Amino acid sequence: LPVDELIASIAVDVPDFPEPGVVFRDLTPVFADAGAFRRVVDALTEPADVDPRAAALSGGGPGFDVVAGVEARGFLLAAAVALDAGTGVVPVRKAGKLPRETVSAEYALEYGTATLELHTDSIRPGQRVLLVDDVLATGGTLQAAIALIEQLGGVVTAVAVVIELAALGGRQRIAPHPVHALWTT
Ligand code: IMP
Repeated sequence: LPVDELIASIAVDVPDFPEPGVVFRDLTPVFADAGAFRRVVDALTEPADVDPRAAALSGGGPGFDVVAGVEARGFLLAAAVALDAGTGVVPVRKAGKLPRETVSAEYALEYGTATLELHTDSIRPGQRVLLVDDVLATGGTLQAAIALIEQLGGVVTAVAVVIELAALGGRQRIAPHPVHALWTT
């Protein structure tokens, strides 16, 4: 089964979560399935090999030096991808969770705002970063994460997500950063 069909067959649509009218794509059954999790982790690692920008920077190896994951579901994926690729993993966290000096970025949610933070010493200038999350919706979350990485001098060579909800325009919002989505729906 192609990876998009595999994900589609295992993910569960939850109507009216977290609020009425919203259909939430629940990926926890995909993570819980050993075979599907393996396929997803392998596929997430690909873009950094195939993306021309990443390839140009990498000179043949994986096109990233470190994997960054967005709290909380992004952590499950980023750690697995990093272990597989032989890199470290860096957490992009919600406000107030990281104990040392951070940079922070506020972004708009449907109602109100949220803040993401990154330890200032977690990314070194020039380091190539593969940024991972589970779902790309409006792109606000990943846009904030990119801003933090770039503020520290990191180079986001690829953004990889399991599901892209295309109607919400996240890819346009994140452009020109290349988005590698395993399932665009
Ligand atoms: P965005 O900032 O609008 O792109 O929303 C993306 C963030 O919300 C990601 O961190 C996702 O984990 C979460 N998210 C939005 N929609 C869904 C969904 O349908 N299923 C799971 N997570 C979602």
